[in-house]
Amino acid sequence: MGVQQADFVVVGAGVAGLSVAAALAPHGRVLVLEQEAHPGVHATGRSAAIFSRPYGVPAVQALSAVARRHFERAGETGEPLLASRGILHLVTSVELGEAHTRASDLAHCEPVTAAQALELAPHLAPAVVEGGYYEADAADIDVHGLTSGYLRQLKAHGGELRLATPAVAISREGGTWRVETAAGAISTPVLVNAAGAWAGEIGRRAGTGDLGLTPLRRSAAIVDAPGGVDPSHWPMVVDADERVYFKPEAGKLMLSPCDEAPSEPCDVYADDYEVAVAVHAFEQLTGSSVRRVHHTWAGLRTFVPDRVPAVGFDRNGLFWMAGQGGSGVQIAPGAAALAADLILGRAVDPLVAPHLGALSPNRFAG
Ligand SMILES: Cc1cc2nc3c(=O)[nH]c(=O)nc-3n(C[C@H](O)[C@H](O)[C@H](O)COP(=O)(O)OP(=O)(O)OC[C@H]3O[C@@H](n4cnc5c(N)ncnc54)[C@H](O)[C@@H]3O)c2cc1C
Repeated sequence: MGVQQADFVVVGAGVAGLSVAAALAPHGRVLVLEQEAHPGVHATGRSAAIFSRPYGVPAVQALSAVARRHFERAGETGEPLLASRGILHLVTSVELGEAHTRASDLAHCEPVTAAQALELAPHLAPAVVEGGYYEADAADIDVHGLTSGYLRQLKAHGGELRLATPAVAISREGGTWRVETAAGAISTPVLVNAAGAWAGEIGRRAGTGDLGLTPLRRSAAIVDAPGGVDPSHWPMVVDADERVYFKPEAGKLMLSPCDEAPSEPCDVYADDYEVAVAVHAFEQLTGSSVRRVHHTWAGLRTFVPDRVPAVGFDRNGLFWMAGQGGSGVQIAPGAAALAADLILGRAVDPLVAPHLGALSPNRFAG
């Protein structure tokens, strides 16, 4: 079998890989390799699907701001990708255990009194609500709509998604990457590492290191809303120290204990103990009891040590789209635009330009 040629090869068909593949597709032949039989089955298919402007470090906030423009433009020309879903960052008297590092900058949210918090979220138990911060412009993201739109764009420009085709071995010679798959070798000048929890492994296979990437498991569960009512119009509620959150999901509520246990890259499952902790916190915050957990799952949020994503070429010429942590869906359109600008040698968005050093995969090299 001869060596196949592509202008761009993307490893991984989660939201990161599909978004960059769609952005590159008008500019050359794009091949996306995905080890699974379907796209988006790992982190992308397991998220809470929330867009939150103040979420994350400043570089993430900048990518989110660019992404927001894309989401809103897409809504003007087709099905909207965002649906309004306020977030109540709750200050509570309940002892929920050790505080986590808060990921959202609450300075961007509107402070609310206990009475206002209860008006926004009447399902909370009045005795435990001390006040909070309200983020009115947060939204649910239609993740399926987003990724299927990217796939359509990729295919419309002659790009190709190869499922059940892992990138097995990677080598580089004279400025060209060679990627081995069970269906033969592919040669490309531009190799994009968008392998999610496996991105560190891909970096090691490519001989360039793993940037210290660590996948962290996050568990989730589906329960009925108190009283069995339809909670579709309720806001998302996040304890202000991010120890638990719950948000409406298809007529029920999704709960998460905000766990962050290091894991190997794998098809990860929910931790029963952590789910029980989230259920207990939910019962305390709502004064209700959970009769049944309908369904649980977990996904891997993958971070580099400083929690800033890595977007850019490293010194060996590998392009990284990795370490998106808990923001990979909401930043995807912004990160893909940045990736395409860097790969195609175009000027980058002025909102993101000040953060290029922070986002560079070379920031760890001495
Ligand atoms: C419980 C939970 C809640 C979350 N909530 C939110 C949220 O509200 N908002 C938000 O923006 N983000 C959220 N996230 C984070 C978000 O899901 C991730 O940041 C994002 O999905 C990462 O996308 P990705 O494409 O990098 O990774 P993935 O979706 O994991 O895709 C990587 C792909 O690479 C493939 N791959 C790996 N190795 C190979 C190989 N050798 N060859 C070929 N293919 C390979 C994998 O099979 C996988 O499909 C949440 C995550 C979790 C787990």
